[in-house]
Amino acid sequence: MSKRETELRVEEEAMAARYWCHMCRQAVDPIINAEIKCPYCGTGFVEETSEEINGGGSSKAA
Ligand SMILES: [Zn+2]
Repeated sequence: MSKRETELRVEEEAMAARYWCHMCRQAVDPIINAEIKCPYCGTGFVEETSEEINGGGSSKAA
């Protein structure tokens, strides 16, 4: 049974590639060549994020 292994691998990849496009205001899977570009708007306003993006923003120090 290798289903669990596959799930784990997918999860790892999803967590490894987390980029946020400030133009689209959404998480994107960017085009990475010489520079990182958003596949939707084509700009470089893409920021790598290691944290999960939650649409709430409830408990941030104001
Ligand atoms: Zn974009």
